[in-house]
Amino acid sequence: MHAVVGNQQAQAILERALISGQARQAYLLYGPEGVGKLTLAQAFAQALLCQRRPLDSSDPCGECVSCRKVAHHNHPDLALIEPEDGKRWLAIETVREMVRLASLAPTEGAHRIFIIPEAERIQERTGNALLKTLEEPPDDVVILLLATDPDDLLPTILSRCQLVALRPLAPAEISAALRERWSVAPDAADRLAALANGRLGWAVRAHERPEEQAERERLLERIIALAGAPSDERMRIAATLGSDNAATRVTLELWIAWWRDVALAASGAHSLLSSGAARREATRLGAAIGPEPARLFLRALIEALASMDINANPRLTLENLALALPTPRSTGARTGGARQ
Ligand SMILES: [Zn+2]
Repeated sequence: MHAVVGNQQAQAILERALISGQARQAYLLYGPEGVGKLTLAQAFAQALLCQRRPLDSSDPCGECVSCRKVAHHNHPDLALIEPEDGKRWLAIETVREMVRLASLAPTEGAHRIFIIPEAERIQERTGNALLKTLEEPPDDVVILLLATDPDDLLPTILSRCQLVALRPLAPAEISAALRERWSVAPDAADRLAALANGRLGWAVRAHERPEEQAERERLLERIIALAGAPSDERMRIAATLGSDNAATRVTLELWIAWWRDVALAASGAHSLLSSGAARREATRLGAAIGPEPARLFLRALIEALASMDINANPRLTLENLALALPTPRSTGARTGGARQ
């Protein structure tokens, strides 16, 4: 599936299914928002429905009537099952209609495929309406559920899916994809990749909407400023870093990526991912605080991100981190004044 970037393991699972001709009937593609779940699901659907795909290949031809209909979102055998506009939950009527369609033979292709982009939005009663189709699906039906976290799904649904994990991409993968597929200039691609937290989807969007990139650059600037600020100033900055769980996750992921560079610089490594001012500041700070404090704080950041999964208080988490920031050990470093 050449349309998909990265996540080779996830791709390999689906490619094997295509080449063996033995697709499972329900998959759960899961991973962080913006990581490419829908792109992968659509590529898989296109390959399953392609009329000219060679038996030993997992790549859809991209040109047959089926491929074109999938690309234009009007293939009669591929349906996106989503909540109605403005609604939080998937309507039971929508699922009942899906179940009815699943019982019919495909119109044009060899399969009927349903993609449910936000499987977390299935409530128990709606899920029960779906179960029979998941338990005894007609041979030609393939259901692709997408979710951020499998733990948010009803266990009865989860147990019937083959799990396919997607992970954030490395900055180098994102930068290469931006250059090769979206013709982004190398410098701009590197900058976007450094801000993307592993999400190609975010990088592509931010490339088209510069205000999103600017906003995240300002966030990174505040994260960097925090490291050099005196302790009374830290609380003020920490309060601007994330008001809710989602925003705090973004902050923590960005902070971890940059602080990893601080820890690398502290141990004398030169293979940093940041560029420009962020890189200079990581190098300076790493040298000033030393490897052990840098490593310990990196661990604290990673633990703080994990604590967001169990609904830790975002404000308190950020304030605690701001207070725990290691202080530069050398007298020449910019520490924002004397300390007791
Ligand atoms: Zn085709």
